[in-house]
Amino acid sequence: MYFSKRINNIKPSATLALSTQAKKMQAQGLDVINLTIGEPDFNTPSHIKNAAIAAIERGDTDFYTPAAGILSLREELARKITQAYQVETTSDQLALTTGGKYALYALMQALIEKDDEVLIPLPYWVSYGEQVKMAEGCPVFVHPAVGQMKVTVAQLEQARTDKTKLVIINSPQNPSGTVYTEKELWEIGNWAVKHQIMILADDMYGMLVYNGNQFKSLWELSPEIRRQTIVVSGFSKTYAMTGWRVGYVLADPALIAKLSSFLSHSTSNLTAVSQYAALAALQGDQSCIQAMRLEYQRRLNLIYPQLQKITGIKLLEKPAGAFYMFPDISEAVKLTGFATTEDFVFALLTEAHVAVIPGSAFGMENHIRLSYAASLENLNEAVARIDHFIKKHI
Ligand code: PLP
Repeated sequence: MYFSKRINNIKPSATLALSTQAKKMQAQGLDVINLTIGEPDFNTPSHIKNAAIAAIERGDTDFYTPAAGILSLREELARKITQAYQVETTSDQLALTTGGKYALYALMQALIEKDDEVLIPLPYWVSYGEQVKMAEGCPVFVHPAVGQMKVTVAQLEQARTDKTKLVIINSPQNPSGTVYTEKELWEIGNWAVKHQIMILADDMYGMLVYNGNQFKSLWELSPEIRRQTIVVSGFSKTYAMTGWRVGYVLADPALIAKLSSFLSHSTSNLTAVSQYAALAALQGDQSCIQAMRLEYQRRLNLIYPQLQKITGIKLLEKPAGAFYMFPDISEAVKLTGFATTEDFVFALLTEAHVAVIPGSAFGMENHIRLSYAASLENLNEAVARIDHFIKKHI
């Protein structure tokens, strides 16, 4: 069978591959603790599910919808964004997509020409580079200073060429939970304005920040920065709705119109029932967000100090958002005699039955990503197993 160069060029998602392996072992009856998961461990709140069922029963979900989403949802979302950021936002600045992942894919198709360069700071979410390649663009990975998880304007400037079209800023960040400060965002925003580079702000975890840390969106900063900013966000992490696949793009109406045409020829529209669920999520009681956020914060505050105590594991800065920890394990790999982080991760899964993701999936060798979207009981047990596994191999 013949495959296109485009598809042959794509690496499978390492996060999905590892979580599949962990699930397979669980299905075989093995007691595997799966910390590879990139999704909330909570069910979608009942009032959202019930509203979706009611929409089905009314027959509202039986037909195609406008490509960018039903007007009531776009209007409600625009109202929420206006309120949250104190920036007048209208429904023609919004398009609903099949998850934030498809929003990012569609945007790359809409914005990137062959050989255009896209600056992607390390560590990065697994799909950015592959999606740029699918649009025939060129991902340019920008390294932060050693031990840091954020890039500076000086580092971005060094990577800039006359082919640079776009920079992706993900805050709070997957995999490290790092959050860019307002000052850092201003600096990056003004630099992008100066050089006419578009900014793709992945705000997916914006509602999940902890311990007094503040999330700022580039959308809030100034009209000049906003003109060049495209926000991608969604309902997956905020409302525990990963399976419903609700994402959105917030951008200039001209881009939204182009994107609508693209959506009309690819997905037609985000599944109607998911749109009604999303509308109910926005209109309903918002306390569910706070309850889940507080639970993630509780886990982080309990697990972070324990992880720090493990020999060879280094996590100097406490994560500020999302639900991941991304420690440097180079010392542990050295002490245990494994050749690579991947070998360490594989042995940890097969011997200690703890599944984590090697940092190479996010562009940073020597690290692992652990998700704390897992019960505290499992997290405690996983930390104990990792500690025991390292001690056993030293
Ligand atoms: N962006 C980041 C940083 C993510 O971690 C994810 C999901 O893991 C997404 C975007 C896409 O989320 P979804 O497609 O579920 O909306």
